[in-house]
Amino acid sequence: MSLSQGRPYLAIPGPSVMPDAVLRAMHRASPNIYEGDLIDLTAGLIPDLQRVARTQGHVAIYISNGHGAWEAALANVIAPGDRVLVPATGRFGHGWGEIATGLGAAVEMLDFGKQSPLDPARVEAALRADKSHKIKAVLVTHVDTSTSILNDVAAVRAALDAAGHPALLMADCIASLACDRFEMDAWGVDVMVAASQKGLMTPPGLAFVFFSDKAADQRRAMDRVSRYWDWQPRAQPEMFYQYFGGTAPTHHLFGLRTALDMIHEEGIEAVWARHDLLAQAIWAACEAWGQAGPLQLNVDNPACRSRAVTSLRIGAPHGSELRKWVQDKAGVTLGIGLGMAEPGDPSWHGFFRMGHMGHVNAHMVLGMLGAVDAGLSALNIPHGAGALEAATKVIARA
Ligand SMILES: *Cc1c(COP(=O)(O)O)cnc(C)c1O
Repeated sequence: MSLSQGRPYLAIPGPSVMPDAVLRAMHRASPNIYEGDLIDLTAGLIPDLQRVARTQGHVAIYISNGHGAWEAALANVIAPGDRVLVPATGRFGHGWGEIATGLGAAVEMLDFGKQSPLDPARVEAALRADKSHKIKAVLVTHVDTSTSILNDVAAVRAALDAAGHPALLMADCIASLACDRFEMDAWGVDVMVAASQKGLMTPPGLAFVFFSDKAADQRRAMDRVSRYWDWQPRAQPEMFYQYFGGTAPTHHLFGLRTALDMIHEEGIEAVWARHDLLAQAIWAACEAWGQAGPLQLNVDNPACRSRAVTSLRIGAPHGSELRKWVQDKAGVTLGIGLGMAEPGDPSWHGFFRMGHMGHVNAHMVLGMLGAVDAGLSALNIPHGAGALEAATKVIARA
């Protein structure tokens, strides 16, 4: 029998759960894009986006997913032949590097594998070796969504400063923004990319590029920049259409307005604290399961784990079987293991991920953990006892 009737829970690392209030805000007739509410609403989004990113810097909005944010950011500051340094800790650093390659950049990859954060000392050494300052940017993934590794972005700023290197520090916060603490200005980040469908709780389709004055200067020094990706008119529009390089993403903007209201009503520090405690509850359950059986957290050191997504190793075929069981029987959809093994390789079925970003609360996390616990028993996958007790003990600290 199936127990999956009721509200389904998409517990994958993006798109995330959409609040009903966001959906309600979007349910309306097409608004006028030449005058009226939409124009005022859009201008008001900018300071609230800056507050989420903890920056006084500029913001450009694109109608795109995260891949578009990657391209938008690079298109403004990287010319063909320029060098970029990419410390990769999973799939997403490689993805951003591939976009840079497509734009004609020479990509220098530092691969830290799939279970360890980047090592700032190695980044510093690579920067010191670049005596003629050919490297124009360092592309850091704050949270790698495939491995759930949390990288220390401020440490990369320190490495740039120690090496006396002028390259821009660019950060991918698509998975982490409004989930894990991120301080764009305090951490000395020049360019940050984000998207609507993860911590920002809005459907996929909006991308954001935040940039500093230093990055704006590098953009101005470019021989040419693709008109569509150019962040200048988007960040300093003289006409409304310039915010989006064309028609506004009307309904997404109403949804985003509501999502930002929810974030600021809770308070960004409280949003981070909620994600932190819920993540600790998940880790506690996973550690208990792992006491007697194959389930293991992908990242050993809690300080290097994301609070938005948790990657797990459980051995094939348990990962895929468990995902299927909790979806069919309990109405919870877990994430596939991304980038841990090649699709087609049998070991691909030995990984899965839990998404816990955005509009997630204690009962959702406990429900997801309970469903996984039941699935482990139903499928006779060996596991330690006491996982739910361990999670509820953490939740009880709230
Ligand atoms: C989701 C994600 C992306 C890609 O975003 P899309 O919207 O799927 O294009 C890039 N980087 C990170 C860290 C992500 O989590």
